[in-house]
Amino acid sequence: MIPYAKQSISEEDIEAVVQVLRSDFITQGPVVNEFETAIAQYCQAQYAIAVSSGTAALHLACRALGIGQGDTVWTSPNTFVASANCALYCGATIDFIDIDPHTYNISIAALKQKLETARENDRLPAVIIPVHFAGQSCDMETIYYLSQEYGFKIIEDAAHALGGEYNNDRIGSCRYSDITIFSLHPAKMITAGEGGLLLTNNSSLAEQALLLRTHGITRNPSLMDGESHGLWYYQQIELGYNYRITDIQAALGLSQLKRLDEFVARRREIAAIYNKKLNHLPLTAPLPDKNNQFSWHLYVINLHLDKIARTRKEVFDELRKHNIGVHVHYIPVHIQPWFTSMGFKAEAFPNVMSYYQRAITLPIYVDLSDEEIDYIVHVLSEVLS
Ligand SMILES: *Cc1c(COP(=O)(O)O)cnc(C)c1O
Repeated sequence: MIPYAKQSISEEDIEAVVQVLRSDFITQGPVVNEFETAIAQYCQAQYAIAVSSGTAALHLACRALGIGQGDTVWTSPNTFVASANCALYCGATIDFIDIDPHTYNISIAALKQKLETARENDRLPAVIIPVHFAGQSCDMETIYYLSQEYGFKIIEDAAHALGGEYNNDRIGSCRYSDITIFSLHPAKMITAGEGGLLLTNNSSLAEQALLLRTHGITRNPSLMDGESHGLWYYQQIELGYNYRITDIQAALGLSQLKRLDEFVARRREIAAIYNKKLNHLPLTAPLPDKNNQFSWHLYVINLHLDKIARTRKEVFDELRKHNIGVHVHYIPVHIQPWFTSMGFKAEAFPNVMSYYQRAITLPIYVDLSDEEIDYIVHVLSEVLS
């Protein structure tokens, strides 16, 4: 089976991990710091904090921004459930913004309208979490401008977008946001096995995230209540978590980071081949990457169901039968039972519903060969004819 996504592990990656195993530190040690510095430098952000998963990074981001009961957080319904769950972990209320039918990111028009209504009802969100779907940035400049007008904070869910750019800045620069998070899951742009990153240019947000990463415990006397009892002493001053990442994982992430630009280049190549070869088929291919800024974590086609004799499910099953590991990204979050039980109705976000009924994710990953792409295009053409 050709999978939809797959990590690319080199001998250097393996060597980097083995070196840590032979060292004194296997949980959080010097390599975590090295990895954080390298990521901050790559993204041109002030602070990078490595944690145990992208989900943990989202949770810490919400906590650092002070999200809690009585707050509302908005995100895209076209995302992995974690983008919404992070708000729920904090006791906040979640709501969604419908997607743009061309980019599949949150619709700026829908966002503006929703903000206007929310202002009238005095229910403005505390935080908005734009998701850079498939590795294409949202319109961050406009979202930032709206955040100034309506007074909300911004967490970029860039789990798909490490290595991508927006307006010639690296995604993760946080130029138009308070915090950006990345995921290091094996399907994502680079991997640490599991892992996540939280980036910010704000020193107090960084400090807060660091504190919460390790139980809310500090050894810094200036943060303590009262006197230190001695060298062994620490204080818990917040309710935090164990969201640490290990040096073993950080070594893999750091080694992978060295190949990130190569990874992105190959993904852009694959997307360009697909865009060209699928041109004549009854489907909408992703938008062309005019300025080579997308990271191309996913390659999603939308079938023109009125022009083909099969349903989406039939096309999907047929591709799987031919050993092509297609996938669907995403089942809209608001129709998950956990969310419908909160009262969300499918039809509240019609663009994402229409998108979902026609979407198929084709395989895209660094080691996908040109022959495999030809095979996928060939089978898809047959199935759609
Ligand atoms: C993968 C993903 C996450 C969660 O990342 P993990 O590292 O798996 O916890 C969050 N948001 C989006 C959009 C993702 O794709």
